[in-house]
Amino acid sequence: MSEEKKDDKLMEKIVSFAKRRGFVFGSSEIYGGFAAVYDFGPYGTELAKNIREAWWKAMVQENDNIVGLDSSIFMHPKVWEASGHVGGFSDPLSECKQCHSRVRVDHLLEDAGVFADEKMTEEEINILLVENKEKLRCPKCGSSDFSESKNFNLLVQSNLGNFTGDWDKEPTYLRGETCQGIYINFKNVMDSTRVKVPFGIAQVGKAFRNEITARQFIFRKREFEQMEMQMFVHPDDAMEMYEQWREKRWQYYLDLGIKEENLKWHEHENLVFYAKAAWDIEYKFPFGFKELEGVHARGDYDLTQHAKHSGKKLEYRNPQTNEVFVPHVVETSVGVDRTFLAVLTDSYVEEDLGEGKSRTVLKLPVNLAPVKVAVFPLMKNKPELVAKAREVFDELKMQYMCEFDDNGNVGKRYRRQDEIGTPYCVTIDFNTLETGIVTVRNRDTMEQENVNLENLQKYLADKLK
Ligand code: ATP
Repeated sequence: MSEEKKDDKLMEKIVSFAKRRGFVFGSSEIYGGFAAVYDFGPYGTELAKNIREAWWKAMVQENDNIVGLDSSIFMHPKVWEASGHVGGFSDPLSECKQCHSRVRVDHLLEDAGVFADEKMTEEEINILLVENKEKLRCPKCGSSDFSESKNFNLLVQSNLGNFTGDWDKEPTYLRGETCQGIYINFKNVMDSTRVKVPFGIAQVGKAFRNEITARQFIFRKREFEQMEMQMFVHPDDAMEMYEQWREKRWQYYLDLGIKEENLKWHEHENLVFYAKAAWDIEYKFPFGFKELEGVHARGDYDLTQHAKHSGKKLEYRNPQTNEVFVPHVVETSVGVDRTFLAVLTDSYVEEDLGEGKSRTVLKLPVNLAPVKVAVFPLMKNKPELVAKAREVFDELKMQYMCEFDDNGNVGKRYRRQDEIGTPYCVTIDFNTLETGIVTVRNRDTMEQENVNLENLQKYLADKLK
């Protein structure tokens, strides 16, 4: 786990940059904050939207055997009993006896180089806790004195539809993962569309977990967003399908512009009993390589469990052969927020421009950039330049997210756009009024090109494809 170098400075820089430039704010800051909950600011909202859209395109639009779904956050409480979450969705929790901060024992052990995970029993974890006492340190105060580890259930409870006042005896849950909504709609989707096995259902939506530790910025949130796809396949084809999806998902991150050296595969050492294979794609976050996405072969566990608990058949009949079977599931599961942090980390560059000058630039791929084009009048106090720039802006904004900026000198405006990753800036000057020629400046090369207004739409369309 700890072979990688941690870059605390980079993490600090990214957190403060994300706040300063309106990407990510801590929730409820005016009330002192709310642990492990974050808000996306104006540019963060755009980036998150572009991440969702890139995923949706790669999964639903480009695969004619995958359909979308938008299931509710609330589901019948039995869903969470069937899925095993009520009984077993827990993390091992211990308290530092010196400073009383809560720690996740499996993470503490892993950081000390001892293999552990949240699937271990309380007894197994406690043995490791005692055996490795001397190696373990409280991340806050450095003490090695911890209380016995207890498994803490991560499901977030609510009183939805319960007016008795003692709702916690029969709680409803905010979903702990989005894929349960997919399993319980498996039959609806089959009955209402023309899908045939193998087919997939994809969805993007909020999930909630009472995460014990609230560190690592948006990597681990208590309210987060998942993008999950469940592929339903014939049992004999499951492993081949699994390998195909491993390849596709790796390629997806390269297409998203992530540097390959910052990605690696991690195989789960301790598989849950029903799983056939489980690998994670890890990204080199500033705090080390950590899970970005899980790609799992889950067997028929999910459909079988829901069939058992609901009493409804969740099977597939092959229309050609009449063979009836319970499909196996190949799952890909990633968070919007973790993708956001990976993308931000990967594209954040501080460039030395020589002569004591530097710039911060987000080298985002064009499809993810929050603003695609910025339009500037060369001078703010020349109404004819401002009017022409407004005209250009009004036309471009119908195609792209654009920003109009007339504040400060053009150099400063370039820097502001570089920081938020805007690929192109268009400047309108006196020459434009005479000849119709504008200057288009490229974020990465900083080169400027003269483009005739008549060709500007086409020029940008080619570049922003
Ligand atoms: P971890 O081991 O890091 O807690 P996990 O194995 O519990 O993650 P899954 O249940 O497999 O995660 O969830 C699938 C994906 O959802 C993860 O790969 C991650 O991208 C995202 N995710 C899970 N938990 C969180 C969270 N608390 N905050 C942000 N994203 C999350």
